[in-house]
Amino acid sequence: MHKVIIIGSGCAGLTAAIYTARSDLRPVVIDGYEPGGQLALTTEVENFPGFPEGILGPEFIERARKQAQRFGAEFRAGSVTSVDLSRRPFQVTAAKETYEAETVIVAAGASARMLGIPSEKGLLGHGVSTCATCDGAFFRDRDIVVVGGGDTAMEEATFLTKFARSVTLVHRRNDFRASKIMLDRARAHEKIKFLTPYVVDEIHDLNNKSVEVVKLSHAETGEKKEITTAGVFIAIGHDPNTRVFKGHLDMDEAGYLLTHDGPKTSVEGVFAAGDVQDHHYRQAITAAGSGCMAAIEAERYLSAKEK
Ligand code: NAP
Repeated sequence: MHKVIIIGSGCAGLTAAIYTARSDLRPVVIDGYEPGGQLALTTEVENFPGFPEGILGPEFIERARKQAQRFGAEFRAGSVTSVDLSRRPFQVTAAKETYEAETVIVAAGASARMLGIPSEKGLLGHGVSTCATCDGAFFRDRDIVVVGGGDTAMEEATFLTKFARSVTLVHRRNDFRASKIMLDRARAHEKIKFLTPYVVDEIHDLNNKSVEVVKLSHAETGEKKEITTAGVFIAIGHDPNTRVFKGHLDMDEAGYLLTHDGPKTSVEGVFAAGDVQDHHYRQAITAAGSGCMAAIEAERYLSAKEK
């Protein structure tokens, strides 16, 4: 029986781990299927206070993990497959092992959204990617496509210019969600070409297991277009990883966990932190802040129980 189980090992989960470990609660952190969360898949982090020259996302995560381990946090590989939050102690099952805990901190994050076209999953890892940092180097001197109109798409497109000969950014509208600074940076780059408003109909060639052509339609006129490309980076946002909590914790229509009084969920003793409950700010620093809040509330909850 554990005092605290933390579900997720991104910025929020690791901060919760550092705080609860320093409070001698010996947290167990379940890594999840994307250990380190989104920062582990990103490049330069330039806006986290304390790093004037910036720091690489994976390095930042590795340091936070070591910091948590230094104070006694334990990490377990695997994803959570089921939970029972209706009983005390709570039960959490991951990698065929069931854990019992007095409190649970859900920091399961959010995952990359896919376009929903038949070929994309089959071509994932064969020219289709959701992570420029992971796969950009495979496309040295090639022509590639990035799909999306938010900050992620601008960031990925700009990063990919380090390797690619050209980057075509395809977005379904003429307006962008991206912040002005990131949009301007991408627009000013000589290697990046914008193509709007176009939707991706299909990516070929699934039979050859390689990306060769992207088929597009004009979002207003329906005009068809094809681009020859070696890679497609899908950068269209994220969905919260909350499927296992359906029916256990209150969530909004998009599946983000609902919290009140800071990190408290609809079940007393269960707290939520990071992108799993935040579709508005979604920053490393806000995720870390909410991980800290969840840890403090978990500790207070445990202390009150002991009195
Ligand atoms: P986002 O802001 O939600 O943008 C997603 C983009 O993808 C939108 O342009 C959307 O188009 C498009 N899209 C969504 N579903 C689509 C589909 N099925 N087919 C085609 N296009 C689709 O997501 P994000 O760019 O990942 O950013 C999320 C948050 O993280 C934002 O708050 C952002 O500021 C932040 N962020 C910050 C940084 C940074 O500061 N360094 C970097 C990355 C992200 P519509 O506009 O038409 O809906």
